[in-house]
Order: sequence, then structure tokens, then C-alpha cells
Amino acid sequence: MNKPLLTLSGLTMRFGGISALEAVSFEVEEGKTTSVIGPNGAGKTTLFNCITGMYRPTSGQVSLRGEDITAAPAHRIARHGIARTFQNLALFGGLSVLDNLMTGAYLQGRSGLLQGAFLTPAARAERRAAEAAARETLAFLGMEDVADAAPAELSYGKQKQVEFARALMQNARLVLLDEPMAGMSKTEKTAMSGLIQRVKRERGITFLIVEHDIPVVMDLSDHIVVLDFGRKIADGLPEAVRQDPAVIAAYLGSDPHH
Ligand code: ATP
Repeated sequence: MNKPLLTLSGLTMRFGGISALEAVSFEVEEGKTTSVIGPNGAGKTTLFNCITGMYRPTSGQVSLRGEDITAAPAHRIARHGIARTFQNLALFGGLSVLDNLMTGAYLQGRSGLLQGAFLTPAARAERRAAEAAARETLAFLGMEDVADAAPAELSYGKQKQVEFARALMQNARLVLLDEPMAGMSKTEKTAMSGLIQRVKRERGITFLIVEHDIPVVMDLSDHIVVLDFGRKIADGLPEAVRQDPAVIAAYLGSDPHH
């Protein structure tokens, strides 16, 4: 096993009387795809929010390459090399695909979007670098043809791909994808799966994915963690998790659509 990139130890998050996460521990291996699955309300989104600094966990620890990053503010987590996409599309409708990707680069940049508007020489240089990086990312993903399109002109699946591309613009080593296949057709899911696999293989990026489509998850993941009512009930290779009686029981007792 490679060294863990991300380690969660005893992560607990309570909202009033609800335990959204209860002492969850697992490791995310560098250069692999780890997926978190579980019925509705299992705590998957809460887990992402704890990792990315949007929630401060009630107790427990998040560490990145051994460094404690628990409850660091979201912008610092981004600078640590963690990027994420959201469950619902979060693209800027008024910007082209290229400009949407460039906002991803600005999250890394020094002068920032606001100063960029005033076009100081430093901001201009940064803008040029961001545009080159955005074009390069689109080319790598085979999406150059949509650079000038507005997100609304694209199919839902393509928009999700743009969001994925924007997350890659942050030069993150760890990319968290929150339901990357939600609302997609089978063809779109296959395309997205292919992109994720290729980025992992060719760029060595580590993925942590929350996804409801179990066959897709089984196909895509090196490692699967199963949550149910905030607790980890299984953790292992896809084959082992698929046959785990506790996992089967958790899914049989839940909404058949998920
Ligand atoms: P889904 O698959 O439906 O997206 P999930 O596995 O992502 O579900 P979470 O959204 O993490 O589950 O929710 C876990 C539990 O925590 C649920 O009982 C939810 O109602 C509760 N919860 C999540 N966020 C909050 C919050 N901000 N305030 C109060 N309760 C919350």
C-alpha cells in the first residue's frame, strides 16, 4: 500500500441530537480512487464538509500527509492541495467554459479575481498563465471544442465535466467529487468515469468520491468505504464490500432508488 494521503481518525459530527458522523476512521491511499457510499442520510456530504473545512467536526482528526488540517478554513484546505466539486452544478452561468476554468486557477493565484479586474501587470501575467492552463486542461480532457460555450448551451453531462475540469485547475493532489454522476445518462456516466480514470492514471491524482450509482462505483474505485447512519460499516476492496452482509442489509433496508 502507498502512503495514505488523507487520514480520518475518529471523525464525529453532531448536529444537536443527530450524529451525522460517529467515530469514522479510514485512509485514502495516494494515487488511488476511494469512494464513500451509503444510503440517504448516511453522512457522506457531512464527511466532505468536514474534510474541506466547511464544518468543524465535533471531535476527531483530518490529516493530510500526516499534517493535522482539522477545521482549517476552507481557503487554507484548498491551498493544501484539496479541491472539490459540489452535488449540484456550481458553474458561473454568465462566464464561458474557459472563464469558468480560469476561476479555478485564481483560487491558487496570488493577485485574485478582484485585482485581476484592474489588470495590474502582475494580474495580467497571472491571467495569461490561467488562460494557458485552462486551455491545456480542456485539451487534456478532449474538451477544447466547448471553450467558448456558455454552460447553459451544454448538455448536463458536459456541464458536470466542465465542473470536474475546473476542480483540476486548482493543481490539487486530492480531488473530492460529490456525486459526479448524479442526473447523468448511462453514456454520460461512462464518459465521466473514463475522464476520472485517465486523470488518475496520467496525472497521479487521488480521488475521493461520493456516488450513489453502485455499479459505477464498483467499476471506478480501488477502495470503498460504506457509511450507514453516520457509522462506517465496511471498508475494503470493491469485491469484498459488494459481498459484505452488513452492506447488503443496509441497502436492502433503504430507499430502493438509491
Ligand atoms: P444523501 O445521500 O441524501 O446526500 P448523505 O449521506 O450525504 O445523504 P448527510 O447529508 O451528510 O447524508 O446527512 C447526514 C445526517 O446529518 C442527516 O440525518 C442530516 O439530516 C443531518 N445533517 C446534515 N447536515 C446538517 C445540518 N447542517 N444541520 C442539521 N443536520 C444535518
